[in-house]
Amino acid sequence: MSKHHHHHHAGCVRPEPEKLLQDAVEQARASGLRRTKALENVLSILIHACQPLTLADIAEHKDLDTGADKATVYRLLMKLEQRSLIRRLGLHDRAAYYTMILPGEHSDYLICNECGRIEKLDIACPVQALEKQIAKSSGFKKLYHELEFFGQCPDCAQN
Ligand SMILES: [Zn+2]
Ligand SMILES: [Zn+2]
Repeated sequence: MSKHHHHHHAGCVRPEPEKLLQDAVEQARASGLRRTKALENVLSILIHACQPLTLADIAEHKDLDTGADKATVYRLLMKLEQRSLIRRLGLHDRAAYYTMILPGEHSDYLICNECGRIEKLDIACPVQALEKQIAKSSGFKKLYHELEFFGQCPDCAQN
């Protein structure tokens, strides 16, 4: 097993996931989505995840207890993305990952150009100070960012 498989997940367990889920379901409903079991399941899976998840991760997840098929989950993800509850990361459809957009929370990512796999950057955010400076000079409130670094992962570099 190569080195990058055991990076730590410090802080990956979100405090009060049930509250986050409630808020997310409310937000989805307020933006016109029907409250279904599948909607609740998908949001819950994303809120409890340590990493961004692929469509397959979600559609085959043990907590998806509705029997919703992959196409249904995909449509749901698109609707959540359009409503800015979740964000799509990655290069293209085949290697797309989904992650919650949550207030006060952001991650920066490393993405492999070849296999499409994605990892959270395991370092302190490199542009926090820059963000503050931009907020100050632009007058923008609630500024946020998410960085995506692209390259070749160690596994792909070996082949
Ligand atoms: Zn790769
Ligand atoms: Zn950052």
